[in-house]
Amino acid sequence: MEPIIRVEDVSFSYKINEKNSVPVLKGVSFSIFPGEYVAIIGHNGSGKSTLSKHLNGILIPETGDVWVHGYNTQDATKKREIRKTVGMVFQHPDNQIVATIVEEDVAFGLENIGVPREEMKRRVDEALHVVQMSQYRLRPPHHLSGGQKQRVAIAGVLAMQPDCIVFDEATSMLDSFGRKEVLRVMREMNEKGMTIVTVTHHMSEAAEANRIMVIEEGQIVMDGPPREIFKHKQELENLQLDVPPVSQIAEIIHSKFSFFSNDIIHEKGLI
Ligand code: ADP
Repeated sequence: MEPIIRVEDVSFSYKINEKNSVPVLKGVSFSIFPGEYVAIIGHNGSGKSTLSKHLNGILIPETGDVWVHGYNTQDATKKREIRKTVGMVFQHPDNQIVATIVEEDVAFGLENIGVPREEMKRRVDEALHVVQMSQYRLRPPHHLSGGQKQRVAIAGVLAMQPDCIVFDEATSMLDSFGRKEVLRVMREMNEKGMTIVTVTHHMSEAAEANRIMVIEEGQIVMDGPPREIFKHKQELENLQLDVPPVSQIAEIIHSKFSFFSNDIIHEKGLI
């Protein structure tokens, strides 16, 4: 299977001035395949956000390459295709909302690319339905809760029909209710086939994914399914990443695999 995103030996530093730069990513390589739900975890300053901004060409590698459906993110002529394939949802919902009415906000990106009116209406309806915000379509976004605003921002990205959505700490400004709403939307989108990459420092959120990549000082130090990653409790704690209690992981896995009995969950090694 062809990957949606291929990251090949990517290094990146921020230039501080003429002479000095801060190296952040150091020879990072991995691929993201269609239908995956990937969590990138690491403590503050490990390079998560810098890495996620490489996944749709917001940042360009200093050395190495990022390929999105075979297009190199360094190819400026393919910028539009790349942004269309990989959508991004950021930390602050307020910064992503541009219109004064929810449905106009969701339609904003579609208007920019000249989608015909009927098609636009259909896509906005569908996106608001997926994030369960249809009943708020005529409301001003600034009256909504943080979780609701973030779902409107997700609808705006969904309406563009990307193949993959990258969430960069998209739940970190939300209260626990808002966080649950957004996590549920991510899970449901993934169940429908959308590829999800979520950048987080919450291990309990990472447990929702099917694959966890741990980043430390700009390098991927672990990459595998949650049950494998959580076996490395001590190493994770050394990286200031708290492994959620088994009971909490079990709860997440049970809700994901509610059609399995406890015995089957254990037998399959899901926890
Ligand atoms: P994380 O998302 O894991 O917290 P970041 O990718 O935001 O990590 O940051 C990694 C490192 O890069 C940190 O040391 C941070 O201070 C530095 N950094 C991030 N953005 C910039 C910037 N625009 N200019 C200079 N240094 C930056």
